[in-house]
Order: sequence, then C-alpha cells, then structure tokens
Amino acid sequence: MGNVRTVNGDIDAKQLGFTYTHEHLWCNPPNHQKDRDLELTNYEASLSELWRFKKIGGEAIVDATTLDYGRDGKKLKALSSATGVHVIGTSGFNKHIYFPAWVESLKIEEITEKLIRDVEVGMDGSTAKAGILKAGSWMQLIHPLEEKVTRAVARAQRETGAPIWLHTEAGTMGEEMLDILEEEGVDLTKVAVGHSDRNADPYYHLQLAKRGAYVQFDGVSKVKYYPDSVRVSLIKNLIDSGYSENLLISADMGRQSYLHAYGGGPGFEFIKAKFIPRLLNEGLSKDRIDLIFKENPARWLGQF
Ligand SMILES: [Zn+2]
Repeated sequence: MGNVRTVNGDIDAKQLGFTYTHEHLWCNPPNHQKDRDLELTNYEASLSELWRFKKIGGEAIVDATTLDYGRDGKKLKALSSATGVHVIGTSGFNKHIYFPAWVESLKIEEITEKLIRDVEVGMDGSTAKAGILKAGSWMQLIHPLEEKVTRAVARAQRETGAPIWLHTEAGTMGEEMLDILEEEGVDLTKVAVGHSDRNADPYYHLQLAKRGAYVQFDGVSKVKYYPDSVRVSLIKNLIDSGYSENLLISADMGRQSYLHAYGGGPGFEFIKAKFIPRLLNEGLSKDRIDLIFKENPARWLGQF
C-alpha cells in the first residue's frame, strides 16, 4: 500500500480509516437532466451532512462526481478542510448522456491528457488532485463514446497509477468493461466495478472477483430496488467464496432526497448506524467489517 491521493494532498493509506467508497458531496448535473433531485449544490447542507458522517466515526469519503457531472474541486477542498474528513476526488466520466461535446471531437490521447492533469495538477482550476479515475457504460451496451473514454481512463491509469472505478448501468456490462481495460494493459486489481448489487446475481459477482477486481455494492438502504436482505446475502456469497478482500460497500446517496441535511433520508449515518450492526447481527465478524470499510478501501485507493 502506498499513499492515497486526497483533495488536500497525499496521505499514507494506513491513515485513511473508516471509508465510504462511493458517495457525492457536491454535484450539479448538466441542465438537460430535468431531475434536479440529483443536484447537491447547497454548501451548508453538504457540510452538515459531512459532519454527520464524521460524528458517527467517518474518516474518509470518495466523492464520485465526475467532470461531466458538475464536480467542483474547490468545494471538495473546503468541505474536507472544514471537517477534517479525507475526501478523495474523481476524474473521468459518468455515462454518455452527460458527456461534453469535446468527448466526440478530441482524440483519445487528448482526453487522456486532461485526465492526467486532474490527477497530477488539480481539478477545475483548483489544487485538488483527483484520487480515482472513472468511466461508465450504458444499459446492456457500451456506447462508442463510452468505449472511447474508457480507453482514455485506462491510459491515464497506466500513466498515473490512479485506481479506477466503473459506473455500470443497473449492474450490467461489468465484465465487458473489464475486457476493455485489460486490452489496454490495466492491472484489474486496481479496478472497482460499481453498482454491482443492482444486478443481484451472485454468479456475476464471482466472475468479477475471480479476475481480481473489487466488487462494489453501493445501493445500501435503497429499498426501491430491493431490501437490504438481498445485499446481505450477496455480501455473504463473496465472503463464503473467499473474496472478502474484493468487497467495497457504500450507499451512493447522490440525491437530496437521500440526505438528512437536504431534507431527505436515510443519510450518511445509515451504513454505520444501521447496516453494519445488522451485518454483525447476521454473523459477520468485527474484523471482517474492518476489512471491508478500512483495509479494502486503503488497498484500492493507496496507489500513489
Ligand atoms: Zn454515484
């Protein structure tokens, strides 16, 4: 394990502590997204939610907001400085419906240069460097522009060493996205496949883990998809098959209606206050919880 690149500088991965590996502190999706529940641009509210995370023992959080989704490096720095919570920022892209026009016009090499700049110089004109690279795919297909930026992300990864996180639409196309990264020479042990619990298929999860990738379940508390009982059984599937070291768990609460400080719920407290006690009650050991929420995030993020 090396260092983790936070928006306020590199830290020893051993210092990372209790971590949520996919959340949103600040995002402003493009105007054509009419669902403005997805917009988190109230500084006081975002700060208050992060304090709630800190109060329940939260020490680090990955803000997975990309450059095409209204990221703001300066705001992330301010939120981290105010609370002392380590914040890890993201370079790269969401899914194709959010891409800026230059994704089509620029060459892969030119896009790669922009990503490297985010990781090595700073994001959005700030000194906040990105600590992960992100690419995404669509429902049951990879749009040609998504393939293009995935290759740019892969090349930026090889140049900078930054870990990769993949958006998958409803948990589809994870294996095919790994294929593209592998073709580009990326070491899949540095890659996390997000939203994997949306596709509640234990066999699929084992295919990802067998290739060395992290399998991220980031829908904790979202009963609109299914109850947490399903997630508990998916977690046990990976543990019982010998892949506890591939597990990452978070809740991706990227909506006002999910966050207490924006008037919604269950908020950043939920995993620590409700879901972890449930996992313990359903038979996971305290050591396993530490592995999932401290050691695995530190190993995934500690690439610098
Ligand atoms: Zn997200």
